Amino acid sequence: MPVWYHETYTEGIDTSARFPRDRYILLRERLDDLLGTGLIQILSPEPVDKDTLLIAHEQDYVERFLSSSLNPKEIRRIGLEPWTDAFVPRTMRIIGGAVEALAHVTRFGGVAANLAGGTHHSHRSFGSGYCVFNDLAICALLARDKHAYERIAVLDLDVHQGDGTATILEGEEGIITISVHGEKNFPFRKAKSDHDFPLPNGTGDEGYLLAVKESLAIIEDFSPEILLFQAGVDALEYDALGNLDVSQDGMRIRNGMVFSSLDRRIPCVLFMGGGYSDPIEHTVDAFHDLFMAAAESNALYGPH
Ligand SMILES: [Zn+2]
Repeated sequence: MPVWYHETYTEGIDTSARFPRDRYILLRERLDDLLGTGLIQILSPEPVDKDTLLIAHEQDYVERFLSSSLNPKEIRRIGLEPWTDAFVPRTMRIIGGAVEALAHVTRFGGVAANLAGGTHHSHRSFGSGYCVFNDLAICALLARDKHAYERIAVLDLDVHQGDGTATILEGEEGIITISVHGEKNFPFRKAKSDHDFPLPNGTGDEGYLLAVKESLAIIEDFSPEILLFQAGVDALEYDALGNLDVSQDGMRIRNGMVFSSLDRRIPCVLFMGGGYSDPIEHTVDAFHDLFMAAAESNALYGPH
């Protein structure tokens, strides 16, 4: 399974930021075992071009971001401050990784992953909650308008609702959005996905996996030609921002349910999503499980 990754995913966030920026480099190192067995390959993304961003975002916002002229309030709302010169190229490479993973599965089938992103809180004209541009919305629209998919499913299992994705993609023909999330968690004003599964704090494995099962049944009914999967692991019981109390085993079962539901002809792009345990190692473990499950699925059903 190809995994897009660049050192700027970590280095492009200032060392003094409160965000746990080391999650990217730590996961990349934890994937050495899968690299050694040939289950994954690491590829380096090119920065996305501006026109690709405009498929899902307002030109004024895009240009002010690219020229480092967002105002302090807008930067605070993104939440990865302090601003650093490396932040713009980092953002462009992360979206580039998602776009290249989409192009790859379109050509070859199987599963491909970006070792960052899943930036579902980004709206058309502003960023929010660690998200600048919305890679899921960009890829969904690119999948339809450039790659000619007619039915695209966006499955968001991150503990936070995919509000930006839902808003940008609202009413877009051929695209459905599904979000399983904590009802009392950020974003506190929820958007309306095509299908929402709000869960109470402390839900635990059984309730979470039931919602995942129901969301997969919706996808099966829709019969998509491609799945865009925001696979955040912040529902994990150790997560500092999650509050859903799902065990590591529960997360493994979740991953297996999603990947085994993929008809072998359906390509899938994996977007990393959230995960913020303290210490961060629990999150890295859960992401390792996720990438291993994705790579094993790709080895079974992907290109040969
Ligand atoms: Zn999240």
